[in-house]
Parts: sequence; structure tokens; C-alpha cells
Amino acid sequence: MDDGKLARMRQWMLTEIAVETACVREQIGKAQLDPQVMDVMGEVPRHVFVPAAFQAEAYLNQPVPIGCGKTISQPFIVALMTDLLDIHSTDSVLEIGTGLGYQTAVLSRLARQVYSVERLAGLAREARQRLDSLGYANIQTRVGDGYLGWPEHAPFDRIMVTAAPPQLPPALLDQLRNGGRMVLPVGPHDHQALMLVRKDAQGQSSTRVVLPVRFSALEEGEAADLF
Ligand code: SAH
Repeated sequence: MDDGKLARMRQWMLTEIAVETACVREQIGKAQLDPQVMDVMGEVPRHVFVPAAFQAEAYLNQPVPIGCGKTISQPFIVALMTDLLDIHSTDSVLEIGTGLGYQTAVLSRLARQVYSVERLAGLAREARQRLDSLGYANIQTRVGDGYLGWPEHAPFDRIMVTAAPPQLPPALLDQLRNGGRMVLPVGPHDHQALMLVRKDAQGQSSTRVVLPVRFSALEEGEAADLF
């Protein structure tokens, strides 16, 4: 596909995100997402983060399989979660669940530094190749258990989790800076809620349920290297 066609498909994706945002405006409390987030969604080449067999679907507003039974989230959810995080250009952001790195790339265009943890070594390796091929320099990735966060780089101004734990993982809340925000899906497979957690200046946290969602589980324990 040539660059012009890809750019038109990305524009169409932005239209679909805008339509879906308008549809859920009462639940999310706004009719439009942050223009800066929409600009980044219009720039990051999503097709680079989708397996070759699914290229034609890269810019549809739907999840796409990325291997190992995982999916890259639909563009509207990526945009909404990024908007909820309210990232500043000085922020250090922790992402749990790198997948093939699409959300990581979006975060990196808004933040100072992104740290991303993935449990499956095969996916982490492929994500690294894709992020390096685009020259994104403010991203560190590692293979590990996201339930534990990344203590060496804590505290984080923002945390995004892209797989669902049954409850808010205590280590992640500990690693969130006072005044910080975390966005994550929480709950069992058929009954998850997208949550926005805020920590105030005194370290007290409060939680807001934003929307019902469906994510794959944030899995526990060591993973065998699948490929
Ligand atoms: N952010 C990705 C979405 C990937 S799907 C994107 O934009 O494409 C969720 C990812 O979370 C999967 O890659 C899965 O392997 C990973 N995951 C599941 N449990 C995990 C854990 N305990 N620690 C880190 N990553 C985990």
C-alpha cells in the first residue's frame, strides 16, 4: 500500500474514533478527545504494528490479532485510554502489556519517557524491532511480570495497563507518583470496567469507572517463551 492510501485510511480511522466518542459522550464526560491525542493517532503508523496478514484491517476501528492469542486494542480504546491519562511532555509513563508496541508508540509521542513491560518474550522482541525501525528513542522495554511494575524506574507520573487484572495491582499503585494517574481495565473476562485511578498530592487514591470493556487477562506467573 502506498503512503497516500495509508494516510487516507488513518484519516478515516480518526473519523471513526470521533463518531464512537460522540456515541459514549455521556459515559466518558466529553464529546471529543484531546486534539493532541487525535493528532498522534493520525501520525503513528498503526499498520507497522499489525501482522502482515492483517494489514488491510490495520485502520478499521476494531481489535486485530497479534499472535499468542493477544490482540492490539481497537483504535477508539487506545485513543480514549491515552486521553484519560492526560499525559504531559515531562511525564515518565509505565505501560504494562507491550504487545507489538502500538500503544507504546502512541504514549511515546506524548511523554518524556515510556517504560513498557511485556510477559511474552516473543512479542516483546517483535515490538522492539518495530519501535526501533521507526526510530522512537524514548522507549525502554523489558520482559517481565507486569503485576510487579518496574520498581527501578518508579515512581511514574502515569501508568497504563492494557490487560485486565481481577483487582488493582498493589505494586502498580505504589509505583504511581502522588498527583499521578493510572488507566486500566479491571475485572473478569465478561465483566470488566475501564477505570481511571487518581492519586492526590497527599497520596490518597480515588477511582472512577469509565466504560465497560473487554481485554485479555493480565496473566500471573512466569511465561514460557512461546516463539
Ligand atoms: N498494548 C498492546 C496490547 C497488547 S494485549 C497494543 O497496543 O497492541 C495485552 C498484552 O498484555 C499481551 O501482549 C500480553 O502478553 C500482555 N500481558 C498479559 N499479562 C501480562 C503480565 N502479567 N505482565 C506483562 N504483560 C502481560
